[in-house]
Amino acid sequence: MRYADGLRIPTRLFEAAAWHYPIKVTCACGRSAVFDPHALWYLFERKGWDPTFAKAQGRFYCSECWRTKFRKLAPVKFETCREEPTVRLPMPDEREWKRAINRFRG
Ligand SMILES: [Zn+2]
Repeated sequence: MRYADGLRIPTRLFEAAAWHYPIKVTCACGRSAVFDPHALWYLFERKGWDPTFAKAQGRFYCSECWRTKFRKLAPVKFETCREEPTVRLPMPDEREWKRAINRFRG
């Protein structure tokens, strides 16, 4: 987590989920996708991937650029937003999420 103008900015998927900020991933071509942060956290948890935004960004590529230019382009932006998710991924089950919350609170 970091602060900007007194606002807390999540830097890990778990923080985004705990604070209910959807994640927006934007390609250089201008296309973007919005993910539910709980679903993304769950995906990274299951895969054992690094959940910091800086590392998570490299896990994504634009499907449209892949389809049209055969290039896997990493997104230019990976940020929290206030938009409705546009991509559906499996959500964590309640118990798993509660366990994570408890871990976070320590
Ligand atoms: Zn693209």
